[in-house]
Amino acid sequence: MRSGGAAPGMAAGAMLKHRRTALERVEKFVSAAYFTDCNLRGRWETCWFKVELSIPPAWAGREVHFVWESDGEGMVWRDGQPVQGLTKEGEKTSYILTSCLKESEPHSVTLYVELACNGLFGAGKGTMIAPPDPNRRFTVSKAELVVFNRDVYELLVDLEILLDMARLLGEENQRSFQALYAANQMVNVCDVTDPATFPAARDLAAAIFGQRNGESQHSIHAMGHCHIDSAWLWPYEETIRKCARSWVTVIRLMESNPELTFVCSQAQQFEWVRSWYPGLYAQIQDYVAKGRFVPVGGTWVEMDGNLPSGEAMVRQFLQGQRFFREQFGRICSEFWLPDTFGYSAQLPQLMRGCGIGRFLTQKLSWNLVNAFPHHTFFWEGIDGSRVLTHFPPGDSYGMLGRVEEMLKTVKNNKDKGRVNHSAVLFGFGDGGGGPTQKMLDRMKRMRDTDGLPRVQMSTPDRLFSVLEKESSQLCTWVGELFLELHNGTYTTQAQIKKGNRECERILHDVEVLSALALAQDSSFQYPASQLQRLWRLLLLNQFHDVLPGSCIQLVVEDALQYYAEIRRAGAQLQEEAVQSLCGDLLQPESGHAEGTLVLNTLPWERTEVISRTGPAGAEVLALVTAPSMGYAILREPLPPPQPVTVVKQEDGSVTMENGVIAVCLDAMGRLTSLRLAHSEREAVADGCCANQFALFDDVPLYWDAWDVMDYHLETRKPVTTLLKPLEITLAGGLRGSASFSLRVGKSSTLTQEIVLDATCPYIRFLTQVEWKESHKFLKVEFPVQVRSTNATYEIQFGHVQRPTHWNTSWDWARFEVWAHKWMDLSEHGFGVAVLNDSKYGASARGNVLSLSLLRAPKSPDATADITQHHFTYAVLPHRGSFQDAGVIQCAYNLNFPLHAVPASCAQCPAWSAFSVSSPAVVLETVKQAEDRPDAVVVRLYEAHGSTAVTWLRSSLPVTEAMLCDLLEQPLAKEPLALEQQGVRLSFTPFQVLSILLVLRQ
Ligand SMILES: [Zn+2]
Repeated sequence: MRSGGAAPGMAAGAMLKHRRTALERVEKFVSAAYFTDCNLRGRWETCWFKVELSIPPAWAGREVHFVWESDGEGMVWRDGQPVQGLTKEGEKTSYILTSCLKESEPHSVTLYVELACNGLFGAGKGTMIAPPDPNRRFTVSKAELVVFNRDVYELLVDLEILLDMARLLGEENQRSFQALYAANQMVNVCDVTDPATFPAARDLAAAIFGQRNGESQHSIHAMGHCHIDSAWLWPYEETIRKCARSWVTVIRLMESNPELTFVCSQAQQFEWVRSWYPGLYAQIQDYVAKGRFVPVGGTWVEMDGNLPSGEAMVRQFLQGQRFFREQFGRICSEFWLPDTFGYSAQLPQLMRGCGIGRFLTQKLSWNLVNAFPHHTFFWEGIDGSRVLTHFPPGDSYGMLGRVEEMLKTVKNNKDKGRVNHSAVLFGFGDGGGGPTQKMLDRMKRMRDTDGLPRVQMSTPDRLFSVLEKESSQLCTWVGELFLELHNGTYTTQAQIKKGNRECERILHDVEVLSALALAQDSSFQYPASQLQRLWRLLLLNQFHDVLPGSCIQLVVEDALQYYAEIRRAGAQLQEEAVQSLCGDLLQPESGHAEGTLVLNTLPWERTEVISRTGPAGAEVLALVTAPSMGYAILREPLPPPQPVTVVKQEDGSVTMENGVIAVCLDAMGRLTSLRLAHSEREAVADGCCANQFALFDDVPLYWDAWDVMDYHLETRKPVTTLLKPLEITLAGGLRGSASFSLRVGKSSTLTQEIVLDATCPYIRFLTQVEWKESHKFLKVEFPVQVRSTNATYEIQFGHVQRPTHWNTSWDWARFEVWAHKWMDLSEHGFGVAVLNDSKYGASARGNVLSLSLLRAPKSPDATADITQHHFTYAVLPHRGSFQDAGVIQCAYNLNFPLHAVPASCAQCPAWSAFSVSSPAVVLETVKQAEDRPDAVVVRLYEAHGSTAVTWLRSSLPVTEAMLCDLLEQPLAKEPLALEQQGVRLSFTPFQVLSILLVLRQ
């Protein structure tokens, strides 16, 4: 309705108002009954209760609690400060007003209770992972002032532990009978109407708990914990309150339990509490200094372990460790990812580079098919880096301090003959909650009680230090820690995946261009704080329920907004960097464009077809060569060495050829032939079609957004309903293309433009899908004429191989896997790679490479993926190995398009800031150093899996070069030699190196 140019404010001010509609509009905006899907009431909210208490003077000497029970999560505020969380699900329903009422104490107390309209696990209807129900009602069922009978409570805990010992230790164990008979005797001496009989009963229990273990008993390191998902069944905003509620309760428990330790991860959550609850944060800082509130993990959030790029994973640690050092004076020594859905084989090297040699998780206990063979072991990554790894053998990060869990920890421990120590993490988790007094009281009785493992409060450092000492017998696991479950999370919420890949690219490009601008002009203001802000948004969205797509719709909306912000701010920062870097070459505002400036942010020279604005304002194509990490002015457009030809055959098929590859497409857009030009070697398997879409039924057992089960493979239906047959859309020359449309499933449509550019070794598939399915899984398949028992998949700064067969249960359990920008199937001398710009799910079975495109789960987001999608993938046949054929570089090229900007002149010498002499080495990152504004950090990795030596050449005014770790701390006293050819670097397979380059001012 807004006409062009009119300010929205003015238009609104000029409107007539109808009193009734205006009134009702506002009423509906706050209504609890109507339009709650879009009004204020329907948003996540809290409400407040004022509680005025008068404690009767007759209760002098008694312990007085305020008891509150509600099905929403509560927080008690007193004197303007949060003092304790109250959650029924987290077994916290009472706030201690006084442990022994004195006359001098105030008997009238005013409290406020802030109540959230969600439980620990959000506000789903029916099952836990159901989408939030905006009409769900939350009630307060109890608000009382009570006298707490501590003697009875202690007796109850005594009897619980004795009964558990009697039941769980088994009839072959005499301790079981000793515990049982002691409990029986306690019932005999206990007169419930006479508290004077309680001490005798307690003495009987104490006698059992006081009988000590022998030296060999297993030792349990108990640590308070509270896993808080940074967003999941609730939005980010609610997580801030969850942190405060959970952590303030921990502080209260620490005050009265001097032995309690609490392990806490995710710098982002500390940062939230720091900015929203500064009073609470100051108390936390005190307990951190005392070594009892223990920051762990070293990352910004507990991120997904598969999908973030190598650089993004480095930034998780860089942002996290720098935060911990700045706030608490030390970095974390343990990486902590108890709940994430699998762990990349590159992580050990990244951890080592960030000052971490220890890792804790337990998620592999969720494996559907194979039991992981270790609980304490060395984990070795693709480069050979090793880290000491511990899985709490109780298979949980949210234990309750019960006898059963302690016994399971020993019984289940697969390495108990090798090491004698295990972790137990206790405290309600996922939605927060944390430890309770009762958990502590249970474990007090198990400190050293004959028959039970020794249970002592500990810290990750104490546990890992003793494991390190005992590590001589430990086994080693090489390669990825693949989770045999949740394999749908590589595909669910395709817009989040696309946002992640795109924003990783945007921040890469902004950093490269800004660093080059800084190097060329030291007065350039490198946008360090803006980049930190944008990186933190991206890193937050990599949380292990957001990037995997296992979150509610409200979280998806937040995540997409953050990506939009990165795109917006990133575009502006890029423009500023380009302006500074090559301002005199750019077209002035009113001036006339004489040429086109082409910028390349990748570390190799590229010759590609780009689209630019021609003299008449129309889009025109041009073939351009851009130097590595630099720019050139597009001169007289290069003629293609061989133009693309596109020919429609009589049978409706289309052939395309560019002198590099030749393809034949049928009317449904399927590849019936794919060859290298001038070669008879066919890449498509005999009698098969590649670029074949297939739709599968996708109904998992429970975890809808998370899981795709093996049986979905039995429901494959090829997509063959043609809406619009293949038509040529670009006739050839610099670019040829053809388009077609298909119906997918009941009501979805897919339109694809198949594009072949001059000189390009791959053919691109620009795809648009109107997706309206329910519980379906769309993939595209490439049956190829290649035989190999292993396929290769790109991961962070490297690649892994996985089998193409199902010999063993370990092979079969990987029926759906993840990859980054490319996957490849090669035999000696020939292979085919599939590249993509925003997909992560993949598989290779036999000779069929499949890329997973879209899913349609309904929980916890009923609207997941029901929208329009745009994505691109490509297929690349090659001679030789994928390394020698440049598959890695091609996948980068597809993901990092050249930038074309109108220029004021038609000529200038091409300029390259960096180049690398070895094709095995990728220069991934160029950024300003965190602590040295006059230096840049460059990060390179060996990508072929080879030992390589390379020269890093730079035209920047570099005065000193130093190897540094991933936290940018110098690794050696001596700088690297600056030679004529640049800096000489040697790499072992998949090694990542960072170099600090000091610039002349
Ligand atoms: Zn989690």
